[in-house]
Amino acid sequence: MFQDIEPKVLHNEYVNKKPDKDDFVLFSTGEKILIKLVDEKLTVPTIAECEGFGEFRYLLAVDDRGYYGIEPKDADEFVRLMGEKSFNLEDKFIVRGKTPEDVAFALATCFHITSFYEKNKFCGKCGTRYKHSDKERSLICPSCGQTLYPRLNPAMIVAITDGDRILLSRYAGGYYKRYALIAGYSEIGETIEGTVHREVMEETGLKVKNIRYFASQPWAFTQSLLIGFFAELDGSDKVVVSDELSEAVWFKREDIPRDDSTLSMTKTMIEYFRNHPEEF
Ligand SMILES: [Zn+2]
Repeated sequence: MFQDIEPKVLHNEYVNKKPDKDDFVLFSTGEKILIKLVDEKLTVPTIAECEGFGEFRYLLAVDDRGYYGIEPKDADEFVRLMGEKSFNLEDKFIVRGKTPEDVAFALATCFHITSFYEKNKFCGKCGTRYKHSDKERSLICPSCGQTLYPRLNPAMIVAITDGDRILLSRYAGGYYKRYALIAGYSEIGETIEGTVHREVMEETGLKVKNIRYFASQPWAFTQSLLIGFFAELDGSDKVVVSDELSEAVWFKREDIPRDDSTLSMTKTMIEYFRNHPEEF
């Protein structure tokens, strides 16, 4: 999956650390990140290339390579001058499916943190400009003391099975046109199993039982932690699709379409169902 970068290791713990010249810099604004592709490979600006434009802030590391955010004094001028070195603002999803894999996963994770900083400049309680804590990854209001931590949205994805059949669906809108599984965010006051029951009912009109944990995946693009389950159909198999889906269809194991992408939880779960008939 996207986070599988072995033998490299992503260290996400906060460290108050000064950058080295060859550490990487992620600048993000809105849903875009500053990047260039060289022979389809992700290339990130280094500290040396960004020096003088603003303050660097430690984000994470992959092995010994640090990744830093930057708060440019003049963001437009920074982007313009980096453009002269062929770095451009690209949609955050550009990293998906690109190599090196560890850089792709690190950049997505960095984006989660930098967009949190970008969207939270002032205290929501009293309006004072936040300061960065130098002890942990948080923002502190110097006036009223409110502390703000990065948000993580729990979400679930569920493969509904019925013997040798699995339910595959397609979204009605958006860019993702391949077969998918039922997914959705947890609501306040709900267990993750409760999310599974509710989303399955809302999107397909089906009931499920025997919910079984499979795996989880950090999905920084939507500030999520995606938690994957298998669940068995309970009762009628008649699907009533919601407006969010264009279709939801039962596939027998031998008829499941092939899909070449290897990054997603969806693909991993569908392939697991295909290859482990003894478990279902
Ligand atoms: Zn405040």
